[in-house]
Amino acid sequence: MINKNINDCWIYIQDKNLKLGRLQIFNNWSDSLVKEPDKYIWLGMEYFCNENDDFWNMKISEKTDFIYNELLKTGLFKPTLRMADYHFEYVLKAYPSYSGSYKELPLLTDYLKSIDNLYCIGRNGQHRYNNMDHSMLTAFETVSYILGKSHDKSEIWNVNTDDEYHES
Ligand SMILES: Cc1cc2nc3c(=O)[nH]c(=O)nc-3n(C[C@H](O)[C@H](O)[C@H](O)COP(=O)(O)OP(=O)(O)OC[C@H]3O[C@@H](n4cnc5c(N)ncnc54)[C@H](O)[C@@H]3O)c2cc1C
Repeated sequence: MINKNINDCWIYIQDKNLKLGRLQIFNNWSDSLVKEPDKYIWLGMEYFCNENDDFWNMKISEKTDFIYNELLKTGLFKPTLRMADYHFEYVLKAYPSYSGSYKELPLLTDYLKSIDNLYCIGRNGQHRYNNMDHSMLTAFETVSYILGKSHDKSEIWNVNTDDEYHES
């Protein structure tokens, strides 16, 4: 079904002829993620689009055909590949926007820091392009602060201060 030499857990797809942005092969994270790993391969395909654009609104039957064809076009799979099941997850506002008044954010963060029992952590809590590691680190810093190991809330905000996307 799949070329067995592919050991990647995820692959960024940079082919301009494909809409697919990233492909995950969950079997390669761990066989335990898949009920019958010898029989099935569980894939995650990420498509970047806007709410209510053509791709978003495409009928499910059309979308499954489109996606199946894109999978074959990657050349990673044999044409005998069959789709056993699928699930679509539509993620609204998936990415924090660094546009408009974003440059004024320090004004807001200074104010937020002044509220004693408020801790802004994670991706949306800081409206920042934090990945999972950053998000967890903001939680660690918060625990340190609450336990009195740190006395500066800025440490929570100092995780990932890059004002840019990490995957551009
Ligand atoms: C498309 C995409 C791809 C990504 N790829 C990667 C990657 O490859 N590697 C990586 O490290 N990171 C990746 N990330 C980022 C990663 O998902 C986030 O950094 C991480 O999940 C943020 O964790 P969090 O706890 O801040 O927020 P979340 O994981 O978003 O958790 C917030 C939770 O709060 C819940 N919630 C929201 N509002 C309320 C409410 N009012 N009441 C109760 N519950 C509420 C939500 O339902 C959600 O479960 C990706 C993100 C996206 C969107």
